Amino acid sequence: MYINVSQKISTKGLLIVLFAGWFLFVMNSAVGQTTDDIGLTQAESAYLKAKKVLHVCVDPDRLPFDGVDKNRQHDGLSKDYFDIFSRMLGVEMVVPEVQDWNDLISKAKSRECDVVSQINASEERRSYLDFTTPYFYLPLAVVTRYDRIFVEESLEGAGTQFAVIKGDIAIDKLRKRYPRIDLIEVKNNIQAMELVYDGEVFGYIGAQGAVAFAIQSLDLNKLAVTGSLPLRYELSVATRNDEPLLGSAFEKAVLHIDPKEGQSIRDKWIAITIEKVTDYTLLWLTLLVLGTVLIVSLYWNHYLARANRTILETLKDLHDVRVQLEDQNLLFKQQSITDALTGIYNRLKLDEDLCYAVKRSERTKREFSVILLDIDNFKLVNDSFGHLLGDEVLKAFAALLVSAVRQTDIVGRWGGEEFLIICPDTDLQGVSVLAEQLRKKIAEHPFPEEKSLNASLGVVAHNRDEQADAVIARVDKALYRAKDKGRNRVEVG
Ligand code: GH3
Ligand code: MG
Ligand code: MG
Repeated sequence: MYINVSQKISTKGLLIVLFAGWFLFVMNSAVGQTTDDIGLTQAESAYLKAKKVLHVCVDPDRLPFDGVDKNRQHDGLSKDYFDIFSRMLGVEMVVPEVQDWNDLISKAKSRECDVVSQINASEERRSYLDFTTPYFYLPLAVVTRYDRIFVEESLEGAGTQFAVIKGDIAIDKLRKRYPRIDLIEVKNNIQAMELVYDGEVFGYIGAQGAVAFAIQSLDLNKLAVTGSLPLRYELSVATRNDEPLLGSAFEKAVLHIDPKEGQSIRDKWIAITIEKVTDYTLLWLTLLVLGTVLIVSLYWNHYLARANRTILETLKDLHDVRVQLEDQNLLFKQQSITDALTGIYNRLKLDEDLCYAVKRSERTKREFSVILLDIDNFKLVNDSFGHLLGDEVLKAFAALLVSAVRQTDIVGRWGGEEFLIICPDTDLQGVSVLAEQLRKKIAEHPFPEEKSLNASLGVVAHNRDEQADAVIARVDKALYRAKDKGRNRVEVG
């Protein structure tokens, strides 16, 4: 029971506390909404009371700063401020339909707007509007393509073009500060972004935050806010200047905004990141150096490869030339020891071989022999049948000799129709037999055109210590003896 009684008491107490809290809260809120809070004069309060509803004109296309939602209700950062103003001034606010900024200006002139939510003061506008102290500042930002670097100096040099929205208050500010600036005025920020994107202008200058917001909503990933300027929009509430009490009331409202509340509104709406301007100089420099090194090494490689190829080709050519020269040499050597007509050894080779045979015989103490042959009456062959047939006969005669002797025997043309045969390791008896066999073979051989020939032969065996000249002299004598004795015979010398 005790427990029940105390529960009842504590529940009751709690209810009282809650009610008291609610009462105090409501009272406090009610006090907060009174005009006295911001120091409105009686005239201002009376004016607002009589007015009942204020027509607040809003630029429909300036989110996140100013705008209307799809139900045509006030939206954006200025809406949050106007909630506060409405609370401070205790007056209802409605948003008339406005097509665009030009429509807004014309409605402000024709007094269809009591208030313009967010606008830059200008002399021209003061003819129909009063302006409060600015309640919101916005730096001018520069949008460029991601890969371009913006520096403020670009605005001072001629030739670099920047897009700005036509009628933008920034134009005057920019022209004043940068007299040589080249501005291209465009219809809206979409057109401005397109010009930047296509590279037709260097950058687009607009309100920071607004441009970032446009980049995000248009999904232009190649564009970025790459710089900001030391200039800013100073946005005020404007009021129709034919009702000055409205202006003075709003001025008080603006001045009474709690700075913390203002900050939280800005934080809520402007979550922009100014892209850090990256200094690409080092990157480009590195790429340039790497590129140069790459190009040089590629060229060097190419040059070396070409030089290598040339060297290889030259070496191959040299090799070919060497082979050719060797072949040529061989041929020359062959020709130098060969008789051109008969193809057997010539006089030069016979001289060489005879000297060699002499030396060899001295060393080995083995004798060698020599046969000297002369075709009998060969002049008649030429005279009767012509030199050509004579040549053919000489060729056939040489071939017959080569075929008739041993492989180790050396057969050559001594001159004219005379032939010499060196027979190594052969004595006088052996050479005499061979000579006789040759004589018979020659006599029996059918030469071209059925010619038959005879030959006279001298034979000698080399005597110890006898020189080649002496051998030749002796064999020559023997041959002459054979001729003298009637030809077609063998004479031993
Ligand atoms: P012999 O019996 O006294 O030796 O009489 P021969 O006619 O053979 O001698 P001779 O010395 O009077 O004449 C040699 C001839 O051989 C003369 C020359 O025209 C001929 N002769 C020499 N060399 C060549 C050659 O290369 N071709 C031809 N067709 N004839 C040659
Ligand atoms: Mg002769
Ligand atoms: Mg002769």
